[in-house]
Amino acid sequence: MRGKVAVSSEGENSMDVSRLSVDELFQNSVIWDAHCGIDPQVPLDVSSLERIRKAGFTYVSTNVGYDVLPWHEAFPVIGAYRRWLGENSDGYIPVSNIGDVVAAKRDGKLAVSMDIEGVSALNGTTDLVEVYHRLGVRQMSFVYNKDNAGGGGCHGENTGLTRFGRNVIKEMNRVGMLVDGSHCSPKTAIEIAEVSSKPIIISHANSWVLHGHPRNIRDEQAIACANTGGVIGVTGIRIFLGNMGDNSTDLDRLVRNIDHLCELVGPQHVGIGSDFAEITTALESRFAKATDYWPPEHYPSGGDLGFVDIEVFPQLAAALSARGYSNKDISGILGANFMRVAAMNWE
Ligand SMILES: [Zn+2]
Repeated sequence: MRGKVAVSSEGENSMDVSRLSVDELFQNSVIWDAHCGIDPQVPLDVSSLERIRKAGFTYVSTNVGYDVLPWHEAFPVIGAYRRWLGENSDGYIPVSNIGDVVAAKRDGKLAVSMDIEGVSALNGTTDLVEVYHRLGVRQMSFVYNKDNAGGGGCHGENTGLTRFGRNVIKEMNRVGMLVDGSHCSPKTAIEIAEVSSKPIIISHANSWVLHGHPRNIRDEQAIACANTGGVIGVTGIRIFLGNMGDNSTDLDRLVRNIDHLCELVGPQHVGIGSDFAEITTALESRFAKATDYWPPEHYPSGGDLGFVDIEVFPQLAAALSARGYSNKDISGILGANFMRVAAMNWE
């Protein structure tokens, strides 16, 4: 939606939002989704992207590859996004820098950037970090659930970063790519925070304290991320929220995760990473084949993870306001916090 921008290109609040109504606050805030869960394949799932745009988001990062797929399959997906975004410039802007996000808010468009989940996409060489960056990838996590050449996964043996993983972080810091500690083992996530010279993110994860799924993060991981100046994005997957099969508590559970993180690390370190996608049969069959990435004991319903409707996330503005959060904190959680960290990494 069209609106003024409460955040400058440096990610700083540039207007006084304290007197705005909840609706005005939403209209004047950058709404940032640090990661959606659209399956990285061609043809693209543009219906999910369109729902994210219509829900009022300013920015979304969509994944173009993950460890489950052969590494080189990322390239045709990147190519398809670049072409599609170019052909649909009436509603979308491909992201190179923070200025593109500011322009998207001003013009009522959705800024779309790309991310990769797992350093297997580098095929063993840090040289590919800059290649992906030049193609528009602005964020990369280290591991997808299962241990890889970079570090330990959340369903692995809780190992830490490898030498290769440390070199990847240095290269990501050099070229300006957000370092993401989602899907990692606790040890790897904490070491990522130690090694990175820039603020890191955990783009999409919920709190292990509230629901003990191994994909959720321990308090120590959240603290390590926040200590870099980074941000954690609460995520809309019911299997991680703990309400599988019950959509009536989606909003309440997201709020509880936000409450917990805000009490733990402060509201300036909390954001949204929806992981939203409309469920596809391709994803369901992929789950059935790759049980080493999705162990059935942790994913008893296969590819049906319980995706929270993307339209629930905008309701967070009113829900947080009703709980006494200040407008400044709400605007930060809706997007300014992630935007601040992106600005510090990308520029
Ligand atoms: Zn993910």
